[in-house]
Order: sequence, then structure tokens, then C-alpha cells
Amino acid sequence: LAKDSGKNNYELYKAEKSGMGMEQLTLENSIRRALHHNEFILYYQPQIDVETGEMIGVEALLRWNHPTLGLVPPGKFIPIAEETGLIVAIGEWVLRTACKQNQAWIDAGYKPIKISVNLSTRQFLKRDLVDNLQQILQETGLEPRLLELEITESMTMDVDFAIEVLGELKKLGIGICIDDFGTGYSNLYYMKLFSIDRLKIDQSFVRDIMTDSIDADIVATIVAMAYNLGIDVIAEGVETEDQLNYLKRLRCREVQGYYYYRPMPADELAPMLGSNGS
Ligand code: C2E
Ligand code: MG
Ligand code: MG
Ligand code: MG
Repeated sequence: LAKDSGKNNYELYKAEKSGMGMEQLTLENSIRRALHHNEFILYYQPQIDVETGEMIGVEALLRWNHPTLGLVPPGKFIPIAEETGLIVAIGEWVLRTACKQNQAWIDAGYKPIKISVNLSTRQFLKRDLVDNLQQILQETGLEPRLLELEITESMTMDVDFAIEVLGELKKLGIGICIDDFGTGYSNLYYMKLFSIDRLKIDQSFVRDIMTDSIDADIVATIVAMAYNLGIDVIAEGVETEDQLNYLKRLRCREVQGYYYYRPMPADELAPMLGSNGS
């Protein structure tokens, strides 16, 4: 099975690299089919408050449960979905599914947590994003404060546009997090201007935090400045106890990574949610 999926992932890779060739068309068609055949699934990865050890949220991460390839990670198909515009329909499915799932956990008596959903550039730039979100929240009954959108620095290049859209999302009560923070060129002043709630420090900094003093310094600076501006910070890609302890020393309150949990299906996550009122 591993061999099969390795080979087929290679085909996806090939298709991705080949531009508008036959293979890309095939992949595009199969992504389209996947949407209609419900082959997409969300995995959920817990986010932990390091001081209390409590799960404070989950990030929804898209997987393609392909009938013959098995579970395909997003890196293998999101670039093509983004290129072809299919990401907009997929992204809407992700938002609706994540909100529905979060509300289902609450209805089942679990303690409410925040769910973080990754947005693609195309989704962020779409005129009807805010209306769409409003509709999904209404449909699913999820409180807006229990939804957070993860965007990247590059999506905020058009500052006026970003201020406008992020302002409207803020008005709805939805949280905003900058994913992969530190890999782009934005500064923290803009984060304040955009009323960002949380920064997610990119995993490349966390990976080398013990061995690269520059990365360690960058993380320390981000954490300190963010807190001064009243912005929360979460570190992603935490895999070892050493990394965790280092982040704790830097006063980084929230972490996400294999050290605690890998992304998992909804039914595996549910028993780990505390009961409401406990
Ligand atoms: P991301 O949003 O930065 O998500 C973090 C990625 O790191 C996830 O990979 C996650 O499984 C992985 N990860 C978590 N903990 C660790 C760790 O301790 N070590 C390491 N090495 N990796 C860890 P995944 O699920 O393959 O997702 C990759 C990227 O695909 C995401 O990066 C995000 O940019 C994109 N993506 C995922 N789901 C969606 C979606 O629903 N919509 C859009 N537009 N993009 C998505
Ligand atoms: Mg993310
Ligand atoms: Mg990230
Ligand atoms: Mg990323």
C-alpha cells in the first residue's frame, strides 16, 4: 500500500510540474470528481496551552481520501486546485464541514473549542467571502468566536483590501490568525493594523530553534513583540520536548505539533475533548 501510494503521489507530483499538460487535466478532473463523490475529509490537530496542558483549539487540515491512492496530503493537490480555481469550491466545503463538525461536538456535550481553517489566496480575494461565511455560520449555528481563519502574510500585500476584508470578518466576530508567520515580509505593525488575533510561527523556525541561534532570536522577538501588541502567538511543528521547553522559556503560550498530537479524524479527536461545564 505504501509503495502504491508513493508511486501515485509521484504521478500527482509529475502532473503538478507539467503545466497545462494532459496529466494536469486528468488531475483537475479527478479533483472535480472528488468533490462530488465526497472524497475529501478533514483531519484535526489539537492546539495546546502549554501552561495548563489544555486543548484550546484544533486546526482543520484537508485530506483527499482517494479511492485507489489512499490518503493524499494537501500539498499534492492544493497547488493545482488553486491554479484552476477549484480551490474556491473545495474551500467552501472545508469551511462548512469544519463549522458543522465543531458545532456537532458542542451539541454532543463537549466543551466548546475554537476551530482554525486555512484559507487559500483565491478564497480570500473573493468578493463574497464575508457573505459566504455569514451564511455558513448561520446554517451551522456555530458561534463566530469559535471559528478562526488562517491566512498568510502574502494575502495582505494589498493593504487597503486586507484592512477592509479583515475588518468585516472582525465585525462578524471571526478570529484571524497569520499562518507561517516569519516567512514573509510583513512586520508586526501591520498585524496590529489588520487587527490580527494570533500569529502562528512557521514551523521552519521551530524546527531549528535548538540549533540555530538566529531562528531562536527571531522566535523570541516575535513572541515578545506580539504580546506587547496584544496579539496571541502559537508555534507550529513542535516535535520534541526540547523544542517545547525552549518555547516555554520564551513565553510562547500555545503550541501545535507532533510532540502532542498528529492531525486525526474527527471520531478520534472527540474523546479527547473535555465535557462542557467540567
Ligand atoms: P499549514 O496550515 O501550515 O499546516 C501545518 C502543516 O504541518 C500540516 O500539514 C500539518 O499536518 C503539519 N504538521 C503539524 N504538526 C507538525 C509537526 O510537528 N511536524 C511537522 N513536520 N509537520 C507538522 P498538512 O496537513 O500536510 O498541510 C499542509 C498545508 O496545506 C497547510 O500548511 C496548509 O497551507 C495547506 N492546507 C491544509 N488544509 C487546507 C485547507 O483546508 N485549505 C487550504 N487552502 N489549505 C490547506
Ligand atoms: Mg495552517
Ligand atoms: Mg503553517
Ligand atoms: Mg503553510
